[in-house]
Amino acid sequence: MHPTDPLDEARAQLRRAIDLLGYDDHVYEVLASPDRVLQVRITIKMDDGTVKTFLGWRSQHNSALGPYKGGVRYHPNVTMNEVIALSMWMTWKNSLAGLPYGGGKGGVRVNPKILSPRELELLSRKYFESISDIVGVDQDIPAPDVYTDPQVMSWFLDEYNKVKRGQFFGVVTGKPVELGGLNARIVSTGYGVAVSTRVAAEKFLGGLEGRTVAVQGYGNVGYYAAKFLAEMGAKIVAVSDSRGGVYDPEGIDPEEALKVKRSTGTVANYQGGKKISTMEILELPVDILVPAAIEEVITEENADRIKAKIISEGANGPTTTAAEKILVKKGIIVLPDILANAGGVIMSHIEWVNNRMGGWITDEEALNKLEQKMVNNTKSVITYWEKKLKPDENSLRDAAYMIAVERVVKAMKLRGWI
Ligand code: GLU
Repeated sequence: MHPTDPLDEARAQLRRAIDLLGYDDHVYEVLASPDRVLQVRITIKMDDGTVKTFLGWRSQHNSALGPYKGGVRYHPNVTMNEVIALSMWMTWKNSLAGLPYGGGKGGVRVNPKILSPRELELLSRKYFESISDIVGVDQDIPAPDVYTDPQVMSWFLDEYNKVKRGQFFGVVTGKPVELGGLNARIVSTGYGVAVSTRVAAEKFLGGLEGRTVAVQGYGNVGYYAAKFLAEMGAKIVAVSDSRGGVYDPEGIDPEEALKVKRSTGTVANYQGGKKISTMEILELPVDILVPAAIEEVITEENADRIKAKIISEGANGPTTTAAEKILVKKGIIVLPDILANAGGVIMSHIEWVNNRMGGWITDEEALNKLEQKMVNNTKSVITYWEKKLKPDENSLRDAAYMIAVERVVKAMKLRGWI
């Protein structure tokens, strides 16, 4: 569970951006709530013959810049307010990245780890069927998020195509290659985190070479962030997942850590170094910290003990507003989620364009486009922060939010909404 409601966090961040931009209160009011949230009940027959019911949501926050876009997460603790907060973060992420998308997010309150493949398929199909009236290639385009993957996207696509009787490849992104996806999508969020971190390390640490890195969370984002940061010359010294972690100042091989996780269930069994907890990893003496697991892990309680010089947010919402105040005072640079982890949705956009064009882009071209965008976006946020804000009072998040919110507000004004 969350120490605070993520929607309160998301609203506090919006409030701050509105105040910094000097906008009226009515602008805050319009953006503090989503356009629409659909709650669905999903009932399935389990393998043992019992009947179980799950709750799911799709939140559509804002569509001033284009169709709603954002992932769907399966997690036992998902709440409606969390999904709304995540959809708001997608509005800013998509806007900051310059994508023609608004923000949306979905979630199902379920522990997918204890479902059989058949149960997972049924759940996924029912969820997508239930939201099929409000999604669409030009309406709302879901994608993977925590514990959903290309297989789940395949079931979503197939279910939608059955309901709507057609072939609508662009209705979801993060699909397998055989169904119009790009291989590059799997690596894209982690790769984007690595590129953004490299740009920040060049600016603030004199380069990435030999810099030590701790990565919390070893899913799709954490693993690829670690792998690419290591390839770019950094030294991964600590990794963790939900069951624990390992710290070895001599260095950790990211691929070996993944093998250990696959064969034993957790990276904590990595040979060498010492075992640490999923929270201890945040306080290690490293240059760069990559929280790539879940929300609200860096709080008022532990912010003061953080030693990293750069925090690169692979996860959505890992740092609370109160914690960030402490970090700014300490001079720690936080690359905010809406900047650092935008690689996934940027690649989703490339996939979506590719679907509409009938398939033309190569993985190499796609990764080059992603890299360029991540470099430019990171530099723009840093420049805005240096030129327009006070680095000892304002965070990079302030800069990122101001750029993102301003774009959305301009689009709303042009449309005559406000
Ligand atoms: N779930 C990812 C995110 O939070 C990707 C969303 C997408 O590709 O639409 O950014």
